[in-house]
Amino acid sequence: MAGAAGNQGRAPWQATVLTLFPELFPGPLAASLSGEALEQGVWALETINIRDFGIGRHRAVDDTPAGGGAGMVLRADVLGSAIDAASIRNPEAPRIYLSPRGELLTQAIVRELAAAPGVLLLAGRFEGIDERVIAGRGLREISIGDYVLAGGEVAALVLLEAIVRLLPGVVGSTSSLEEESFESGLLEYPQYTRPREWEGASIPDVLLSGDHKKIADWRRIEAERLTRERRPDLWGAHIKKGS
Ligand code: SAM
Repeated sequence: MAGAAGNQGRAPWQATVLTLFPELFPGPLAASLSGEALEQGVWALETINIRDFGIGRHRAVDDTPAGGGAGMVLRADVLGSAIDAASIRNPEAPRIYLSPRGELLTQAIVRELAAAPGVLLLAGRFEGIDERVIAGRGLREISIGDYVLAGGEVAALVLLEAIVRLLPGVVGSTSSLEEESFESGLLEYPQYTRPREWEGASIPDVLLSGDHKKIADWRRIEAERLTRERRPDLWGAHIKKGS
């Protein structure tokens, strides 16, 4: 697969992450194609430490929940100042709060954000953030799945990895992106490579036939079968779109 081809004079796609743990970035995104693309200026990553906007000598960022209850909540005034500082540096970017209460991340959202000039991501911690910040700073809440993480950093990395691989020049061939799961509304067909025989299992004959029409038909049928069996929600939407 070809590597990141450089940015050909375009402004980098700008990610700004607000976090209490800036050392977690770029983390896995420094490796492989996303790392090459970062080095070549296809995208840029800036972290802003929420602690720098903390209150008082101890730079407090959190306090107890109003109304009582367990844990701590990130303060509205601290986050407001941190987001304002980040927005000056990345003014055009949509503002996102990674949150288990948010809309579920899909490939359609990933595509939408890859087409934006960048993103501003807020990673929560503790019991989450003061609710007033969400409306006060126009945050869009996005969840990476129906489970609860300890913080938004891993969710931010997931979102960034999904976006960065769609940026022009990061993945060599656009057709490899187009054929993937979710791009057509279906899961991807099964893939095989050498050896032709492995532990008594063979590659399906049709894939070795050289007949491109037959191969395309087989892949479509398999993609439909897998989607029908594994993801009735996607299959229902696919059928509806076609009718
Ligand atoms: N008390 C919150 C609730 O029940 O909705 C959970 C807070 S969680 C322990 C701390 C932070 O992790 C959240 O503020 C959010 O940024 C992040 N987080 C946890 N699960 C997430 C998910 N599924 N998707 C995106 N971010 C998540």
